[in-house]
Amino acid sequence: MSNLIITQGDITTFSGDAIVNAANPSLLGGGGVDGAIHRAAGPELVKECATLGGCETGNAKITKGYNLKAKFVIHTVGPIYSSKHSDECKLLLESCYKKSLELAEQNNCKSIAFPLISAGVYGYPKKEALEVAIDMIRNYGKNLEVQIILFDKEICKIAQKNFKDYWK
Ligand code: ADP
Repeated sequence: MSNLIITQGDITTFSGDAIVNAANPSLLGGGGVDGAIHRAAGPELVKECATLGGCETGNAKITKGYNLKAKFVIHTVGPIYSSKHSDECKLLLESCYKKSLELAEQNNCKSIAFPLISAGVYGYPKKEALEVAIDMIRNYGKNLEVQIILFDKEICKIAQKNFKDYWK
């Protein structure tokens, strides 16, 4: 039995301890999964985010979940993908997962859900983004029940094909 499952859905409906937000450095909301999380959490979330002083790429910060079912939102800022700087992008994406998982454990979370960070507007190649996510969760998420919740059909197909042991 693995503590990681990959599934299709909307991360805003996750009813565990924490969901991860693919935020931008301002932490003040944006499009994609960030917009969806802020809409579902309600206006108190952006108020708390505004007190945090932003977040650097590769780092993560935690807030309460407000109207979400999840207790916490862990906001992490993924790299904007550049094929010229792919090694650096990979390190930064790895850091997003590691820092998010550390914050979850520090806050006594038992369960956490991730979107596929950087794989939307930020343009990270989708299969590679999944590889990084799975690697890091296997290495640093051993004490947590982890879900990767995929939204877009193309990424779901890639996951079903390449990582079917985790697909549910
Ligand atoms: P980034 O800027 O880090 O690329 P995006 O929000 O553009 O962030 O996309 C990250 C991933 O989140 C994409 O694969 C996108 O399809 C997915 N996504 C968008 N909305 C949701 C949602 N409600 N639940 C889960 N994943 C979502």
